Amino acid sequence: MTTRIPHWIDGRETEGTSGRTSPVFNPANGTETARVDLASADEVKGAVASARTAAAQWRHASLSKRSGVLFAFRHLLHEHADELASIITAEHGKVHADALGEIARGLENVEFAAGVPQLMKGGFSEQAGTDVDVYSIRQPLGVVAGITPFNFPAMVPLWMCANAIACGNAFILKPSEKDPSAGLFLARLWQQAGLPDGVFTVLQGDKEAVEGLLTHPDVAAISFVGSTPIARYIYETGTAHGKRVQALGGAKNHALVLPDADLDVAADALVSAAYGAAGERCMALSVAVAVGDVAEPLVDALAVRLPKLVIGDGAQAGTDMGPLITREHRDKVASYVDAGEAAGATVVVDGRASEVPEEGFFLGATLLDHVTAEMTVYRDEIFGPVLGVVRVETYDEGLALINSNQFANGTAIFTRDGGAARRFQYDVEVGMVGVNVPIPVPVAYYSFGGWKDSLFGDTHMYGPEGINFYTRGKVVTSRWPDPASSSVDLGFPRTR
Ligand code: NAD
Repeated sequence: MTTRIPHWIDGRETEGTSGRTSPVFNPANGTETARVDLASADEVKGAVASARTAAAQWRHASLSKRSGVLFAFRHLLHEHADELASIITAEHGKVHADALGEIARGLENVEFAAGVPQLMKGGFSEQAGTDVDVYSIRQPLGVVAGITPFNFPAMVPLWMCANAIACGNAFILKPSEKDPSAGLFLARLWQQAGLPDGVFTVLQGDKEAVEGLLTHPDVAAISFVGSTPIARYIYETGTAHGKRVQALGGAKNHALVLPDADLDVAADALVSAAYGAAGERCMALSVAVAVGDVAEPLVDALAVRLPKLVIGDGAQAGTDMGPLITREHRDKVASYVDAGEAAGATVVVDGRASEVPEEGFFLGATLLDHVTAEMTVYRDEIFGPVLGVVRVETYDEGLALINSNQFANGTAIFTRDGGAARRFQYDVEVGMVGVNVPIPVPVAYYSFGGWKDSLFGDTHMYGPEGINFYTRGKVVTSRWPDPASSSVDLGFPRTR
């Protein structure tokens, strides 16, 4: 019998009633391992009602109570990281160590959120006017929802839910239907950590569930991470329904390699960042911009590294790169390589010809040289193990190329020249910048987000901006007047 993956509503597994399900695969062997329930509009309403009741209670939990739950959750997540990593590998395909890495980065957000008593401190001005004090406070929004992509089934939900819950909201997670089990695992840990039922909900589903959340009047805010067309739709629909929305989209991340860069350092970093998680990372480097005469030796240094990558089942020790998420996606990525070759790019290492396990959704690491800005392999986000090298003559030409791209999530410069790096971080129009750091995902006490078509909305995710996103400000002006001095005064109140 096929395993069913249910919702998590009101503190328990809840079987779907819509009659609609979606297949979940193990991408390493191509087998369907389960079917996940897909919520109907009515099920969305039920989940939101439960979250609303829970939010009304949870906002009264003291800051130290909330902090205590966060600490307990952090401890449990740490303790069960290995188990969760195996669940991620079985549905996503990424190698076990990489899955542990995403959990570790997610944990940082829980640790940050555990400091909520400090994070929610307001300001206080004594004697702002005569005998008048003014102070600011931040309060939770109520029910907030997170819609997450397949590529980080634990980390991205943790980016959102840790801060949302710490701030006193109830959080509804709508995970990717491609790897829905990690969300349920997190739900059980939250419960064990002492979080009241209904404060963390998992609503499995596809666009019908998303539509229900986007239009429900009791959902105050939506956090989204996924592809750019859906991010744009989420932002436009959510804001049209009066919600606060942060919608992070796709990416095309460039590495600018200057002639003075340490070639081995740059090549190691580029291979790690281009092919880790089979390129299915929003911060993957997919374009190497080689400046001047660094191009030839850089391509050689990359090419010698690729055949050494061990491709296979991510659950097996020693595997460097696992499969792609679905067969359709694998074929789409391969078709981009076909198109690049047809358009004149040189296929230096051909992942289509790699020896890979046949049953799974595998594609070998591919390196393309002489890629140009007109090619689809350059223009589109491919989200696979394909690195394209664009050759430019000068730093300025490289910078102009990066700044003219529609995406602006992350970028990195490889150089030994501090002045050039300083100039790059100042001039580049991208949200997250690495200096000799290939995947510059900010630590949890900064915030994460790109520019341009990589982010719709004003607020970046997690960190201080996350706390702002999940709360709203209130300012109180207070006076304890001496009744003897009280009088009617129709003039506009002054502070002087
Ligand atoms: P996706 O956009 O297909 O799906 C993301 C979420 O939206 C899922 O929960 C999915 O069920 C839902 N969804 C899909 N189609 C929908 C529709 N028509 N209407 C409403 N909801 C819909 O993205 P994905 O394939 O799961 O993830 C990969 C994408 O996510 C890549 O583009 C990647 O760059 C991006 N991503 C971005 C970041 C970032 O921080 N900017 C981080 C991770 C992933």
